[in-house]
Amino acid sequence: WAKADGKNQWALFDTERNAAEVAQFQLSARMPAALEHEEFYVEYQPLIDLHEQSMAGVEALVRWWHPELGRLGPDRFIGLAEETGWIVSLGRWVLRRACWQATQWQREFGTAAPFVSVNLAVRQSRDPRLVSDVAEILAETGLPPSKLQLELTESAVMDTADEPLEALHALSRMGVRIAIDDFGTGYSNLAYLRRLPVHELKIAGSFTEGLREVAGTDPINARIVNTLVDLAHTLGLTVTAEGVETHAQAQCLTDMGCETGQGWFFARPCSAETLRSLLTSGTD
Ligand code: C2E
Ligand code: MG
Ligand code: MG
Ligand code: MG
Repeated sequence: WAKADGKNQWALFDTERNAAEVAQFQLSARMPAALEHEEFYVEYQPLIDLHEQSMAGVEALVRWWHPELGRLGPDRFIGLAEETGWIVSLGRWVLRRACWQATQWQREFGTAAPFVSVNLAVRQSRDPRLVSDVAEILAETGLPPSKLQLELTESAVMDTADEPLEALHALSRMGVRIAIDDFGTGYSNLAYLRRLPVHELKIAGSFTEGLREVAGTDPINARIVNTLVDLAHTLGLTVTAEGVETHAQAQCLTDMGCETGQGWFFARPCSAETLRSLLTSGTD
């Protein structure tokens, strides 16, 4: 009996695993058609200047409206798209869309228009066409390069191979800002970081989360955040704190000299239309 039960359990486990694999496979296989059918869309989350208390920029975050599964967050499909390499096409689409949108705000709101910050996957940072794609998209949309920021993770920028490094320098010379996303969660070579053409560190939300209601509830975490802010400033970089959910966190980060905050306390990611109304009410 025990043996039979055990066997059935394994069988069940295998079936479930296969079903999950099939589902993942089907999701990957659908991506090219999904792009063609406009199932992907971009939401924008405000990046708040903590001193001016104004919207300095927005981060572009991709979503997928799947005909059967409904709304899928990037955590459901970015990893898959990285595996198949298809992220390069999707990423190019997001970049074009976000730059086009930022140009519309630029036309309507002029100098008050936010810059747009676009995530680059590791694969994209290794793509030999990256620099020419960015140049082409900026030319095509007419977005000033200073209104574009690219977010790369530590693992993407810490690669010591020549190609991605040259790409970063070329982008930086073009006038595009480079930010390191989720800083503090990967492996950074600080000596190397110092020589990279990077403008900003984005401190991962997990650190912000540790800044509790009463600042100092987790003193070690608070000191780590403070140290990260100081490190960025020592390197001549600005800092954005991700995942700001409470007033206390925003206050604490402001006191630490952090320039920018992003999180639900300020605004959730929203449609371009909603963002436009935020900008309209902000310029009253
Ligand atoms: P990320 O670049 O670190 O983006 C920030 C994530 O934190 C977003 O999740 C955002 O919705 C979420 N967030 C913002 N404020 C708060 C808050 O106050 N609390 C909490 N708990 N979360 C907050 P989202 O949109 O699900 O994106 C997840 C990740 O997917 C992104 O993390 C980024 O790594 C990736 N991603 C999103 N769009 C793209 C894209 O176009 N290309 C690439 N390569 N990756 C993307
Ligand atoms: Mg990001
Ligand atoms: Mg992040
Ligand atoms: Mg992330």
